[in-house]
Amino acid sequence: MAATLDVAPIEAAALTHPGRKRTTNQDAIGEKVWAHSGVFVVADGMGGHRTGELASKLAVKNILDVLSETEASPNLVIEAFEEANDAIYSAGQRPESRGMGTTATALALSLPYALIAHVGDSRAYLLRDGVFSQLTQDHSWVAERMRQGLLTPSEARNHRWRNVITNALGSFPEARVDLIGLKVRPGDRYLICSDGLSGVLEDQVLQEVLEDASPQEAVERLVKLANEWGGPDNISVIVVAVHEVPEQTSPPPWALPLESGEPIILALGQEESTVETRVFEPKRPKGFWNRWRDLIFLLVYVSLLLYVLFFYHK
Ligand code: CA
Repeated sequence: MAATLDVAPIEAAALTHPGRKRTTNQDAIGEKVWAHSGVFVVADGMGGHRTGELASKLAVKNILDVLSETEASPNLVIEAFEEANDAIYSAGQRPESRGMGTTATALALSLPYALIAHVGDSRAYLLRDGVFSQLTQDHSWVAERMRQGLLTPSEARNHRWRNVITNALGSFPEARVDLIGLKVRPGDRYLICSDGLSGVLEDQVLQEVLEDASPQEAVERLVKLANEWGGPDNISVIVVAVHEVPEQTSPPPWALPLESGEPIILALGQEESTVETRVFEPKRPKGFWNRWRDLIFLLVYVSLLLYVLFFYHK
């Protein structure tokens, strides 16, 4: 007799925990699941006096709101991140909120497709056919040095600047959003997490937990393990298992490149070579020099110009 398993096509669980060293939790998580689609977001906020918490909450809320409106598409995902960036940037204009920002990593499932967008160093991983791969590339100082071959993974893991991110949501009028798309297969497991998990546990451990446990068991076990390893930072984990993938007879035009099944980068906010490396320093208030630098340069430039013109015509 065949046993029938009564599970929905998408099974997900999410958990966030302050960890063992921090008194507040500046991470935020959110999820919405429908029959054949879902949106999952992890954000890791930064900034003093509760502004980090506000930034990550605004990111999750805005991204979920936009992506709940209609079926996910690359344009809609980018729009969701733009809305979130605008909301956080506006909130950050108050003097007491200067320097606030957040990472955001979102998975939008619209079966049989998955779109993953991210800013910062919260990660998305995929476990498929026993292969565990990191889908996102951190926008962080150490990750950029690793890609240039200047740091090894273990040096990066222990580097004192490992928490410095080079791209954040809401810190500037615009953010660089990476967007990856892929065709989902039955059995796929997705993990989205903040660096309070990925910076503490090795990939091998993440994979083993994902392989063995249901999403609910997996998030609980991963948070517990990160805490057992010291819990130095806020820990956020979302695990999504896809059990069943409906047939897609007419893929939307944007999904055609994804038919091969390999993850594809659909959009990079800027070309990698032109990405401006901006070290994000949330704790340093904007000083006199940063605030007036452009004006001072302009004044110097104009005075020089006038000086040259004046003496030339003399
Ligand atoms: Ca963190």
